[in-house]
Amino acid sequence: MSGPARVACITLDSAEQSLLRQWVSHGLLPHFGKLLEESVSSTTRNPEIIYSSTLWPSFNTGVWPGRHNHYCYLQPDSQGYGLRRFLPEHLSVDSVWNAIAQQGHRVALIDVPNARLARTSRTLQVSFWGEHVVRHPLTCWPLSLEQEVQEVAGADPVGACDLVRQRPHELRRLKDGLIERATRRADLALAVLAQGPWDLFALNFSEAHCAGHQLWATRDPKHPQYRTAFRALLGEDPLLDVYQAIDRSLGRIVDALGHDTFLLVLATHGMGPRYHATAALDSVLRRLDGVDVPKASGPIETVRKMWLQLPGMVRGPLRRVADLLYDAPRQRERATRRFFAIPTSDNCGGVRFNLRGREPKGHVEPGPPYQGLCDWLERELLLLVNAATGAPAVTRVLRGDLLFAGPFRNQFPDLVIEWNHEAPISAVRSQRVGELRVESLNPRTGDHRPKGLVLARSTDLAPHALEGAMALVDLAPTLAARLGVELSGIDGKPIPDFLPQHHYV
Ligand SMILES: [Zn+2]
Ligand SMILES: [Zn+2]
Repeated sequence: MSGPARVACITLDSAEQSLLRQWVSHGLLPHFGKLLEESVSSTTRNPEIIYSSTLWPSFNTGVWPGRHNHYCYLQPDSQGYGLRRFLPEHLSVDSVWNAIAQQGHRVALIDVPNARLARTSRTLQVSFWGEHVVRHPLTCWPLSLEQEVQEVAGADPVGACDLVRQRPHELRRLKDGLIERATRRADLALAVLAQGPWDLFALNFSEAHCAGHQLWATRDPKHPQYRTAFRALLGEDPLLDVYQAIDRSLGRIVDALGHDTFLLVLATHGMGPRYHATAALDSVLRRLDGVDVPKASGPIETVRKMWLQLPGMVRGPLRRVADLLYDAPRQRERATRRFFAIPTSDNCGGVRFNLRGREPKGHVEPGPPYQGLCDWLERELLLLVNAATGAPAVTRVLRGDLLFAGPFRNQFPDLVIEWNHEAPISAVRSQRVGELRVESLNPRTGDHRPKGLVLARSTDLAPHALEGAMALVDLAPTLAARLGVELSGIDGKPIPDFLPQHHYV
């Protein structure tokens, strides 16, 4: 091996592929643009509808969500009507990274979300240096690496982006912090590459994810949360500024890797304006079921609003507990209902039925009564319109148990709702529901879109754009195949277009 890594994977978390392509065509992302020219490229196929929290576990393990069961950081607790935190440690499937390391390969991972890697003499892992979801302080293996990371890259200049409020000065600090973090990420990458050679080197850029959620409105005067003060303080397109910082760092890392490395670059999924009606879903379901709003909910919502106005420094240490406390009063009420909303990643809605045999006080009978109720609710949800435009508010309603095959297929929300993201939804309406305001307490202005983009560059591949979409679960097995590691018992398979021709002759 002549370079610092045989196989490298650089992921651009939530970098919107349409913006990447647009900015490449204007010469604004020269390094990504050059890679696009030199690579075999394809769009990717992510898990249906609930893709934003299922994506990383599926990428890391090579199995679809029905076999790993992770779709939200808060999932229903099977013992009652509450929620439990779902952590990567709860996954029942091991990572492809471990399978590769077990074959004797040297593996280095930097900030790959939810990635599990055994601590051995051949592995290196940096976690939570600058991730979008901040669950822990900086964690390094080997332990001695922590001091070096601090020296080379310093501390994360951003922290949890969701603690930032939509105020121009706070957003300006966030933008500057994300640019700084993207820049220093290359310093970190180069320091780890210098400790190689690695058989597999993987690094994630989280900056487009944070920027997409928090800075979307700053670039879009049509967004309801746009404020005129944004332009003067943040510039014309803060998102582009962050993407350009990522691009410069990508260029530095790709230069250090050289041409001998097989390189996979993945823009995981996308981002667009945060237009949906998840915040009104539980009220819609109450109206459809003829259930009154509980008396306690007014004061609870008021307290929640006040809480979200507090500075991030105050909320930071308590926010996970606060999420669970916010949900606690709803538990008793859920037991009395036939169906209710449960948390999902916000860009889709989730409905759970109070099913006999599954829920402790279930009173919807399984079988035909449950199926009939699903059909009826699906029809009613599809009748909802955006009160401002008259357009459908819901584009698709899918059955959770049919979305993903596998042992956990019944653990997903019973109905999963895809919202119509075309326009802001400030109220929804239908004949049976009447009109309901959508009042989201979440200050994010951008939310996810499903499409991803993958590039594979190697001296043994002829650059071209592929038709169709590559399955997300096939990507890690392709990296493994490039190292001669065959995996069995998972959903993903190596992608022939990303392997050298002689594999097939
Ligand atoms: Zn997100
Ligand atoms: Zn973030």
